[in-house]
Amino acid sequence: MTSATFPLGRIAGIRVGAHWSVLIVMGLLADLLATTVLPLGARGSPVAVNWTVAAASALVFLASLLAHELCHALVARHYGLRAERITLWLLGGAAELPEEPPTPRSALLIAAAGPAASLVVGGGFLGAGALASPVLPAVVTVALTWLGWANGVLAVFNLLPGTPLDGGRILEAVAWRLTGNRTRARRIAAAGGQVLASALAAFGAWQILALGTLSGLWMIAISWFLAVAARAELSAAPLRQLLSRLRLRDVMSTDPVTAPGWYTVQGFLDQAAHTRFRTFPVVTFTGTPVGAVSLSALSRVPETERTATRLEDICVKPPACLIAGPDTPLSEVLSSVRLRPGQDLVLVVGHGALVGVAAPGDLAQALELAGLGIRPAHDAGSVK
Ligand SMILES: [Zn+2]
Repeated sequence: MTSATFPLGRIAGIRVGAHWSVLIVMGLLADLLATTVLPLGARGSPVAVNWTVAAASALVFLASLLAHELCHALVARHYGLRAERITLWLLGGAAELPEEPPTPRSALLIAAAGPAASLVVGGGFLGAGALASPVLPAVVTVALTWLGWANGVLAVFNLLPGTPLDGGRILEAVAWRLTGNRTRARRIAAAGGQVLASALAAFGAWQILALGTLSGLWMIAISWFLAVAARAELSAAPLRQLLSRLRLRDVMSTDPVTAPGWYTVQGFLDQAAHTRFRTFPVVTFTGTPVGAVSLSALSRVPETERTATRLEDICVKPPACLIAGPDTPLSEVLSSVRLRPGQDLVLVVGHGALVGVAAPGDLAQALELAGLGIRPAHDAGSVK
């Protein structure tokens, strides 16, 4: 979805973008308003005026979608989770929240924030439409009222109880609270999503066959999206469970070649050339790990400066380089750093000393094994 996405800017530090398919939605909404809703609600309004108001309303509706997603993202950030990007697309919006909510309560509030925003915005438009009706032209108040109902429908649809809809996340949070078992809660909510998808598909087919309206196709498209997302949710559950049981000590290498921070680049090059590694943990004179240095970082130092540059000065330090304890869950490591092969390393530190390192390859292997339902066979007992 990223390649066909164009940036719209930043709000509260969150990147906002739109997928080209949003233009289809805008076109359909503007067409619906200009040719059906406005001519029916405001009789005699000129065609050009209808189209202008319709186009503006479609834009405003897009902005209210954004408000919905923004509320999800801001509540997530309130709970200390990362909120990186919001993308508007064919079936609405998606706030990218790469980290999992820590508690049922936070999961519930993050999920409920979007529909709550839509209800408030919708109520606002309905109120504005009612207040403005004596003063503004009918075409404007009809558009305001339509925006009110559209946001209401958006909220209600999103509250349907099945993932990936907000209602599904709410169901998941409640089930998590009641059962105390997050994986089971996720299954329940995903099953809800599958039931919903079937119901919507049947409804769409009925619309097409019995009523002869093609809007049923839209329902079928949405149901297909729901079914795919619900299935992905189900198949990811065992993987997540396995990952959450894995710790850094399960995947780390325990005898890394360290780079002395006080060495110059020139002094270390010879040593680096005799290993099979591309990244090295950098330690101080007393053995305290401070960061990681890669061959590519060494190569960026001009030849004339290699004898004057110390490793400690060019190594990648936290937060860009993750230093974590051996018991840190892998799921946490994977969601808190973005590792580039050959350039980054997770330093595993116990009691102030380096006990191991995990390279992107180690984490990728653990992920792939987890996908096969297997635990990595590193000797976990070798590290204290
Ligand atoms: Zn939502």
